[in-house]
Amino acid sequence: MAKLAVNGKEPIRKKAFPSWPIFGKEERKNLLEVFESGKWYYFGHGEKQIEFEERFSSFQDAQYGIACANGTAALEASLIGCGIGAGDEVIVPPYTFVATATAVLKVNAIPIFADINIKTANIDPEDVKRKITPQTKAIIPVHFGGLPCDMDALKDIAKEYNLKIIEDACHSWGSKWKGKGTGALGDCGAFSFQMSKNITSGEGGIILTDNEDLADTIRSYTNCGRGKNKPWYEHYILGTNLRITELQVAILLGQLTRLEAQTLKREENASYLNGKLKDIPGIRITKKDSRVTRRSYHLYIVRYIKEEWEGISRDEFIKALNKEGIPVSGGYPHPLYKNPLFLRKGEGPRYCPISCPYYGKEVDYTKVSCPNTERICKEAVCIPHPVLLAEKEDIKDIVRAIIKIRENLKELK
Ligand SMILES: *Cc1c(COP(=O)(O)O)cnc(C)c1O
Repeated sequence: MAKLAVNGKEPIRKKAFPSWPIFGKEERKNLLEVFESGKWYYFGHGEKQIEFEERFSSFQDAQYGIACANGTAALEASLIGCGIGAGDEVIVPPYTFVATATAVLKVNAIPIFADINIKTANIDPEDVKRKITPQTKAIIPVHFGGLPCDMDALKDIAKEYNLKIIEDACHSWGSKWKGKGTGALGDCGAFSFQMSKNITSGEGGIILTDNEDLADTIRSYTNCGRGKNKPWYEHYILGTNLRITELQVAILLGQLTRLEAQTLKREENASYLNGKLKDIPGIRITKKDSRVTRRSYHLYIVRYIKEEWEGISRDEFIKALNKEGIPVSGGYPHPLYKNPLFLRKGEGPRYCPISCPYYGKEVDYTKVSCPNTERICKEAVCIPHPVLLAEKEDIKDIVRAIIKIRENLKELK
C-alpha cells in the first residue's frame, strides 16, 4: 500500500514553515519617522542612511559602508572603484546569480569562469589559478549560501598576481571568516537587500571596505560622480545614480535588530540538520571549514546522489519532498555560461564587450566547461533560509520526510 504524499497519502506536514519577510514595530516606527519628516531622500547622506551604514559595517567588522540601490549596483560600483574596465578579465564562479558575471560585463570587462569545489559550492582557488592570464585584474568570490570562501588561499593568489578581490557577499550577511565578517575580507564586498535576502528592504544594497579612498570613489560613483565635501553640482568621475532612499534604510534598520538572532537560529537548525542528514546514504552535506567561524544560511544546500537512491532522479525526489510539505528546490538550473546571454554568437543585439574590439581576443563561452558546477546543478537540493527559522520540531519534519521517502523508494519507480 502506498505511503507517500506524492501518491495521494498523508503528508508529513500540512503546516507552513515561517514566511518571509519578517517585520514588526521597529520597521513601522522608523518608516513613519522618515515619512513624516518629508526627508525621504537626503542628498546621499540622510540621517538614517548614515546610521545604517555605520551599524551594518560594524556588524560585518568593516570600516566603511556605502548603501546603494541593489546588490547588482553594489557589484558594479565595486568593480569601478577597483579600477576594473575595458579588456580586463575578472574571475568569477559560474554557480551564482547572473549579476556576479553581468556586473563585470557592465564595466566592459570579461568574466572568466573558474569552477567551484563540489564539497563547498564555493569557487575553487586551484581553478582560479589556472584561469589567470596577464589580463586578469580581479576575482569575485561568492560566499555561496552564506559559506565563506577559502579567503586565505584567494588572498595568497591575489597577492602573488596583484589582483583585486571583490566579495559577492549577497548571501553572507553575518558570516565570518576567522572571526572577521565577510565584505571587507578582500578589497571590498557587495551585499543585497532584495526581497528574498536574509535582511531586506524590498530592494537595496551596500558596499563594504576597509579602504577609505576606495570608499570615497565608490560613494562618488553611486552619487553621480560628486566629490566628498564638494559642491553639489561639481562632478569628478563618470558616476551614475545608484542611491538608496531613507525609506528603504528605515526598514533595514528595523531588520538589522533581528539579524544576529536569526543568523544564530538558522545556524543552530542547520547544524541539527547536518547531524541528521550526514548519515543518510545518498545525501552529501556541505563541508565545514574550521576557519568559518559563523555562517549565515541564505540557503541550506545538500547534494543528492541519484545512484544511491536506486536511480530516482533529483527532481522526482524534490517533488516527493514538496508533496510531504517540505519546500525545497533544485537551485540554479545551469551554470551561468549556459545562459543564452553567453551562448549567443553574432546574432541578436550586439553587446559590449563580447562583440567589441577592446578585448583583443575572441570570447567563446560555448567552450567553457566547469564539471563541478554542471554536476551540482543536477545534484543540489536547497532549503530556503526562512525554513531555518522554524522550531526544532518543524525541522525534524524535514528529516522525517527524507527518511520516509527513502523507506518507500519503490513507490517512486
Ligand atoms: C541577489 C544576488 C545578487 C544581486 O542582488 P540584487 O540586489 O538582486 O541586485 C548578486 N549576487 C548574488 C550571489 C545574489 O544572490
